[in-house]
Amino acid sequence: MPRLRLISRDGTLTEPSEVPKLELSDNEWRKRLTPEQFRIVRSSGTERPFCGGLLENKESGLYLCVGCGLPLFKSDAKFESGTGWPSFFQPVAKENVAEKVDSSHGMRRVEINCGRCDGHLGHVFEDGPRPTGLRYCLNSDALRFVKDADLKKEADAATS
Ligand SMILES: [Zn+2]
Repeated sequence: MPRLRLISRDGTLTEPSEVPKLELSDNEWRKRLTPEQFRIVRSSGTERPFCGGLLENKESGLYLCVGCGLPLFKSDAKFESGTGWPSFFQPVAKENVAEKVDSSHGMRRVEINCGRCDGHLGHVFEDGPRPTGLRYCLNSDALRFVKDADLKKEADAATS
């Protein structure tokens, strides 16, 4: 069982604890997601650059997995990369973002996935800004943004 950090009832992240994986059939995922979200998170798709709804978002809050609500990135790590995809220099909790080598399309890249539902999020590259030097390149459709003020409402059932 992965050790993950969830959203607690006061809107902060919990300490890492064992959380079961979320495993659904494709049919169940199709009910939960829009066709475009399904194409990205369940079929490792990529949205067209400069089109994603969260690219220009500068509000303060958390970016959650669109599939399962796991907190993935925080607004204070978002930066303007010029690539056309929402970009972050670090995850909000490294436990929550899994990495694996992706050799598709004749390239060696590192794919990033949700730690709870294995949803495809994007890729991480080593050409990011300080302090990490990393660039987490995300698909807007893999994420759901929640403002700081609304985080308490997102408290994860697995924590209570
Ligand atoms: Zn997820």
